[in-house]
Amino acid sequence: MRIEEGVALGRFTTLGTGGPARALARPETLAELKEALSWAAERGYSVETVGLGSNLLVADEGVDALVLKLGGELASVGVEDGLLSAGGGAPLAVCLHRARAAELGGLEFTCAIPGTAGGGVRMNAGAYGSDISGVLQRALVVGAERERWLGPDELGLEYRRSGLTPGEVVARVEFSLRPRPLDEIKATVAEMQAQRKASQPTNKRTFGSVFKNPEHELSAGRILEACGLKGHRIGGAQISPRHANFIENAGDASSADALALMIEARRRAREQFGVELEHEVRLLGPLQLE
Ligand SMILES: Cc1cc2nc3c(=O)[nH]c(=O)nc-3n(C[C@H](O)[C@H](O)[C@H](O)COP(=O)(O)OP(=O)(O)OC[C@H]3O[C@@H](n4cnc5c(N)ncnc54)[C@H](O)[C@@H]3O)c2cc1C
Repeated sequence: MRIEEGVALGRFTTLGTGGPARALARPETLAELKEALSWAAERGYSVETVGLGSNLLVADEGVDALVLKLGGELASVGVEDGLLSAGGGAPLAVCLHRARAAELGGLEFTCAIPGTAGGGVRMNAGAYGSDISGVLQRALVVGAERERWLGPDELGLEYRRSGLTPGEVVARVEFSLRPRPLDEIKATVAEMQAQRKASQPTNKRTFGSVFKNPEHELSAGRILEACGLKGHRIGGAQISPRHANFIENAGDASSADALALMIEARRRAREQFGVELEHEVRLLGPLQLE
């Protein structure tokens, strides 16, 4: 397996910003994944995995780590007896497509989530009252020292988080689904997509929700809207005029621009609402919110 140096990570993120990885490997089998992890361990490199980069802000200076991008078998999807087995690098859109073709329901909510199965587990991604923990049977987690199949409880899945650490790679995911007629699946997906289109920016480069919803009567988006931040711009990044919990790359944004907007948003939420917003987007590389 080839290890590349200095590959810019911006093209692996939906925001489209970010500097180079110290090293990048694209393992396609479990054996190659273990080889890459050993390679990093021998050199004392830390390891980060990138899915579809749909919840990632990568530092402009780059990432001092071996970055993994799973492909091949590690991004394949198969269905058998109500169980959908997906490589950690498989797009959730492909999982949903395969589930729909097999008339299996449960993954409809992922129609709104442009990530991978592995990234979905890491983030316990969710929408419309469902999340990955509700459909996950188990996930194969591979680290430098060992590999283990873990269930939702062992993975520590909570609201948009898991107990996984950066060196732990979700290599395969098994979803337990239930029979559901095709027309019902299609109707649910169409309804969710229409709701999404009506409330969030579409066809924009974003990384999804910037902040988690706080324990407050207002959502993060509503708080930031009330702070007058819709459309607020720093450099090439702007808070979406459509939904204040999204940051858009308005053309030539840097990650520093997006980070500056996040710092400003947190400051205003603290001053005007006494709320400490916690970021949902994962930060890779030397990025500090304080
Ligand atoms: C337009 C838009 C809408 C969105 N809507 C939603 C939504 O409704 N609900 C929601 O929950 N999210 C939403 N998101 C955010 C995002 O799609 C999810 O968080 C998704 O789960 C991230 O998956 P990813 O593969 O892109 O992960 P990445 O963004 O690449 O990475 C996210 C984190 O997961 C880790 N990771 C990725 N792959 C693996 C792996 N195989 N093993 C271990 N760790 C891994 C990364 O290291 C990082 O810490 C949205 C994003 C966009 C751009």
